[in-house]
Amino acid sequence: MNPTQALYRLQTLEMSLDDAQQRVQTIEAEIKNDQQVLEHRRAYKECEKLLQQAQYLVNTRDLERQTLEARIQEGEQRLYGGSITTPKEMQDQQNDVEASKRRFEVLQTQMEEAHEQVRGAQAAFEEAQLAYESAKEAQLSNSQSMLAEREQLHNQMTRWLAERKDTVAFLKEAYPEGYKIYKKLKPLKNGMPIALLEGDACAVCRVDQNQTIIYQVRQHKAVVQCQNCGRILLDI
Ligand SMILES: [Zn+2]
Repeated sequence: MNPTQALYRLQTLEMSLDDAQQRVQTIEAEIKNDQQVLEHRRAYKECEKLLQQAQYLVNTRDLERQTLEARIQEGEQRLYGGSITTPKEMQDQQNDVEASKRRFEVLQTQMEEAHEQVRGAQAAFEEAQLAYESAKEAQLSNSQSMLAEREQLHNQMTRWLAERKDTVAFLKEAYPEGYKIYKKLKPLKNGMPIALLEGDACAVCRVDQNQTIIYQVRQHKAVVQCQNCGRILLDI
């Protein structure tokens, strides 16, 4: 590899390293981001609460039903058991049994409604549970594939860093002025201080260069910069 090629290789390596570093950061942020799982968990917990409320209502109504049944049974036993002695008492007891029976009928309808609510809440709960489980699974498998990608990037970056080190050592020896200008320009040119000569033009800013510059670039003898953007022009 000649010094000019080495300089261009250095830029390629450093740009690839920057990209890989950025990708690693994105991956790490993505792995930490479990927003979707949290949302599904919230929905699941909410459905669980609604189901418990519906079940509680059924239980309450059922208790009331049992109490009423006992009351009606007791009342009827009193009515026909001969223990009541006055007509007033008889009437009161009759009224009480009738009122209890009316309430019992209403309660039957309310029970059916409450059971219907439980069935609806149960279906919603099961659906939310499934969605939550699959969100957790998706997050896990996504994390695993991203961790594998991160590992691969780390290995690649280790190789690139080693090659970069060798390239810099070589340039310091073989092309010190080129490397010096490269380092100075790099932060000013957004990490891309080198441009290839494409025909007569700078490949980055697309401005045609004069013949002297083109000649010098092709001779590889000096560090030549683009007349327009100031990048180091290379012909490789
Ligand atoms: Zn240019």
